Amino acid sequence: MKEETPLALLQRAYGDILRVLRQLGYPIDDDNFRDTAPRAARALLDLVLPTAEIEKEVDDLVARSFTARYDEMVISKHNVCFGVCPHHLLPVIYRVSVAYLPSEKVVGISKLSRLVRLLARRPVLQEQLTQDLAEMLYTRMGSRGAAAYIEGLHLCMAARGTEAHEARVVTSAVRGVFKDQPATRQEFLDLVTTPPLALL
Ligand SMILES: [Zn+2]
Repeated sequence: MKEETPLALLQRAYGDILRVLRQLGYPIDDDNFRDTAPRAARALLDLVLPTAEIEKEVDDLVARSFTARYDEMVISKHNVCFGVCPHHLLPVIYRVSVAYLPSEKVVGISKLSRLVRLLARRPVLQEQLTQDLAEMLYTRMGSRGAAAYIEGLHLCMAARGTEAHEARVVTSAVRGVFKDQPATRQEFLDLVTTPPLALL
């Protein structure tokens, strides 16, 4: 028998969740719920990308790096992106900053944002995401050093459980020069923890 697609499986699972809502007294036959199961299934698949798709995009991204004379710190700061936590599968809103010190290869600045968004859309711990970003910019880019700094608003904490509405989880990871030279690490942290520029 052919394996069910992720979308079909999820749709069935959300059908079960809707039946739970019925038990809780909600009118799931109401018009508002008509396409909820397929819609919710697609929504989850927007937040959790297949690992093969992520790997392929990362490969493409690294392949499109180019040689440049620039060897100062490159920072992509305050990328807002989304994922889910592995413990509750509830959404996490991240604000991610990454940096690297190129040795030869650089990658387009929009590609850095793309990399952050790709790796965020996995059911992994924020700590893991932070390390993966620093590691990838260090080893895959062959850079002299890399760093990642992430603030996360976890809905499993903010909307339920401890109801820590305002609490942010803060993680950072450093590799290479950022690890060996405290001043470089501090420069990165100072730059990414200043408020964003007001555009208007
Ligand atoms: Zn959680």
